Amino acid sequence: MIYETAPAKINFTLDTLFKRDDGYHEIEMIMTTIDLNDRLSFQKRKDKKIVVDIEHNYVPNDHKNLAYRAAKLMVETYNIKEGITITIDKDIPVSAGLAGGSADAAATMRGMNRLFRLGKSLDDLSALGIQIGTDIPFCIYNKTAVCTGRGEKVTFLDKPPSAWVVLAKPDLGISSPDVFKALNLNEQHVVYNDLCKQALKTNDYQLLCKSLSNRLEPISISMHPEIKKLKDNMLQCGADGALMSGSGPTVYALAQKERQAKNIFNAVNGCCNEVYLVRLLG
Ligand code: ATP
Repeated sequence: MIYETAPAKINFTLDTLFKRDDGYHEIEMIMTTIDLNDRLSFQKRKDKKIVVDIEHNYVPNDHKNLAYRAAKLMVETYNIKEGITITIDKDIPVSAGLAGGSADAAATMRGMNRLFRLGKSLDDLSALGIQIGTDIPFCIYNKTAVCTGRGEKVTFLDKPPSAWVVLAKPDLGISSPDVFKALNLNEQHVVYNDLCKQALKTNDYQLLCKSLSNRLEPISISMHPEIKKLKDNMLQCGADGALMSGSGPTVYALAQKERQAKNIFNAVNGCCNEVYLVRLLG
């Protein structure tokens, strides 16, 4: 049996630059890893089946599971002759903007690389992973990086300064395709990618907090104003910075002191069912 942890990610920044001829958006986003994890285990099977063992109301256990799709891609690409059982123990909230499904897919690729002794590099797996989803190349490494192109170009940045992260997922669903459809590239919204890179390079926590910015945030807020309320609440309770991650709806707050983080946690705990207090890993 092989084990892998699949950590969630948050966006420090997310910018959409233009719509490409292939229909995807060219993006530039800075992401980091947090210690909120799914846990996966992998076991060979004598038959050739890919079996996903997960008990979760909102996550499929069939070919629609991103871990299944990753496993199928690995089997086809590397000509694997055996089957596999993938067991997923899920802690990352689903459809949250935290790349939980991508984290599972990436962990599956790393796990199968070890289980079947394929000897592939993380760079090989990352290049392959983009076939399944935008966030998978990043999730292969679980560091801090700027991702460009469709998400396939991953350039590592320095680890962020240590900080607490309070995450709160409002009880609502947001479809990423709907958010991208509503995106008007002519509307201005400043995203501080350069400032964020500088903050990471100089280990400047205050600057990092100032640079948090997400091109999709105003769109998701226009669809669900409670996201803004949650963000404002976190800032009023002493967050050093707060931002919606990905296409939402999860909003996170950064805090350097534990007491400050606990205050924010307690303030939002009553209004959202899914609230977490974790650390930046980077
Ligand atoms: P991203 O930030 O990459 O957009 P997300 O956090 O918004 O991702 P996910 O939790 O990855 O969203 O799930 C999105 C959809 O994918 C859900 O409809 C879910 O049912 C489906 N899905 C498929 N496989 C998985 C998986 N292993 N874990 C979670 N969701 C999965």
